[in-house]
Amino acid sequence: MKLWKKMLIGLTFGTLIGILLGPKAAYLKPFGTVFLGLLNMLVVLLVFSSMTVGVTSINDIRKLGRVGFKTLLLYMVTTMIAIVFALIAAKLVNPGLGIGLNHGAVDLTIGETPELISMFMNLVPSNPIGSLANGNILQVIVFSIFLGLGINFAGEKGKPVARVLESLSEVMFSMTGMVMNLAPYGIFAIMAWVAGTFGVGILFPLLKLVLAHYVVCTIHLILVYGGILLFVAKVRITPFFKGMTDAITLAASTTSSSASLPATLHCVEENLGVSKNIASFILPLGSTINMNGTAIFQGIAAVFISQAYGIDLGWQSLLVIVVTATLSAVGCAGIPGGGIVTLSIVLGSVGLPLEGIAIVAGIDRLRDIIGTVVNVLGDGVVAVFVAKSEGEFDEEQYNSGVYISYDHKPAVPQESQS
Ligand code: ASP
Repeated sequence: MKLWKKMLIGLTFGTLIGILLGPKAAYLKPFGTVFLGLLNMLVVLLVFSSMTVGVTSINDIRKLGRVGFKTLLLYMVTTMIAIVFALIAAKLVNPGLGIGLNHGAVDLTIGETPELISMFMNLVPSNPIGSLANGNILQVIVFSIFLGLGINFAGEKGKPVARVLESLSEVMFSMTGMVMNLAPYGIFAIMAWVAGTFGVGILFPLLKLVLAHYVVCTIHLILVYGGILLFVAKVRITPFFKGMTDAITLAASTTSSSASLPATLHCVEENLGVSKNIASFILPLGSTINMNGTAIFQGIAAVFISQAYGIDLGWQSLLVIVVTATLSAVGCAGIPGGGIVTLSIVLGSVGLPLEGIAIVAGIDRLRDIIGTVVNVLGDGVVAVFVAKSEGEFDEEQYNSGVYISYDHKPAVPQESQS
């Protein structure tokens, strides 16, 4: 059975058992806590390796200039806009309001929201090994970017380090798969505890959360992607979506940007008329660091969890979320459920309880379907814009309506779904 189905079953059964057991369901909570511990165990090395590998994919140093700048700028700006949309929607819909998880029945340790300015000052690690050891993710991300650049500038001599990190990132992907296989049980335990302590009232808000996510993703597709194509790249919108059909289908079915990459490359090069040069530089990088759909979910989920626990997020915390969700989307691996692992970065940055992850994990696959489609399409939009601005775009092909179907099977990287 597919993992996402097992996760939904875990959610349903956990809720039922929780209702049956009542407050006694709290005995199941330690199993959920162990699952959360396992997720946390992955974060540092996963972000470190996948981030560095993302940067080393800019392997031609000459490309690092103009094209790299435009690409990174667009990736970052669209991700930030996505989170702002998500926060506005979450504040309007209030998906977690009234759940009342912070009921006094649970002992929660809520951290302090760091000052934004000191957060910026602390971004650069004085001791990267210390940052890794202490799990300071933001510092790890900054170090990974520098390390990736250093590897590239070192040329041939840097290649062995790149290969070690590539291999580490593959290993971390497969460890994520192993841990995700335990997700149904972790979700079961946490949901039993939640429903036992707080009743079924939790299910309706979760539905609201998923709906809000779908609405924001659709708005982002239309306004931001449509806007960039139409007004910045100055091309028609329909050929883009038609040409990307195969990539969209794969993204929705595998919920993995990495698994969809071969199809995305095919669609962008063959159907949309982007030169191989540009596509092979922008798309692999995008599949690792450009995740607008993931960012949208993290923004909405953070507000949901804060409301569920009755924690008021002031504007400063919301700003911290915009920054950390951008970075956490960058550090997120393009694999099924990657965003649920890095959600801890966002929650941790504003002192929200990590238990919230297990609650939203039950609907993870549902949100990941559209989220991954948004992630993959975002890479395509940036590729079209950059190609056009660099004179590496075949507009005739783009508008031709002749699309070659991609019928290869994707190389699914350690799909955690068994
Ligand atoms: N599944 C997403 C992707 O591969 C990442 C995530 O949001 O979990 O793009």
